[in-house]
Amino acid sequence: MDTTSLLRKNLESIQERIRAAAERVGRSPDEVRLVAVTKYVDVPVVRQLVELGQRSLGESRPQQLWQRHALLADLPIQWHLVGPLQRNKVRKTLPCVEWIHSVDSLSLLADINRIAGELGLRPKLLLEVNISRHPSKHGFAPEMMEEIISQLGNFPNVTICGLMAMAGVEGDLEGARRDFRALRQLRDRLSPLAPPQISLTELSMGMSGDFEIAIEEGATMVRIGCALFKGILEEDS
Ligand SMILES: *Cc1c(COP(=O)(O)O)cnc(C)c1O
Repeated sequence: MDTTSLLRKNLESIQERIRAAAERVGRSPDEVRLVAVTKYVDVPVVRQLVELGQRSLGESRPQQLWQRHALLADLPIQWHLVGPLQRNKVRKTLPCVEWIHSVDSLSLLADINRIAGELGLRPKLLLEVNISRHPSKHGFAPEMMEEIISQLGNFPNVTICGLMAMAGVEGDLEGARRDFRALRQLRDRLSPLAPPQISLTELSMGMSGDFEIAIEEGATMVRIGCALFKGILEEDS
């Protein structure tokens, strides 16, 4: 099969799995946004994916996101940064993205807020929580979140939309379900504590290996890479 046919087949299969997972728990599939994480493939493949109708794209490295934003500027893409953002890269990143999923410190949040103000932008942000407390994972410690949420009124140039997390251990599906459920419960507990203009409606959780579980547990955004590129990537796992 050629690349476009493979992409179309993978995309349709993932959309179908998203729909089935949402329906299993009585949710509307429209509540779940697919963010296609394109870090594994070259720009021509990304272009084909957009031409198939996929508009929300994610990258985990800021430099790669800047380059692709420039190379694909003719297409109607909504870019999501899903990986770590260093403070010295905020100024170049903000004009390229609509969403940043990986805000993991108050100092980063303060920089984004200040620079967004200077640039006249208003990025949508998610606060990354290290819900599993796994040392390899980024994010705020869950017990810090009440304090963080109480301070969100200090950042008027950004829209804080919800929380993001990764499951602690890849391949441990029971553990993933526990982590995703914990993130949703944390969000439910924090929501009433947020300043009135902020509503934590988004939960970015779930990747290729666990997105159906994440949807069952309330994900509104799933970040999917390798499952979309099955048969296209060289080392197919
Ligand atoms: C790479 C990446 C993904 C996609 O992972 P897959 O397992 O390839 O679906 C999702 N989220 C983040 C933060 C990533 O870095």
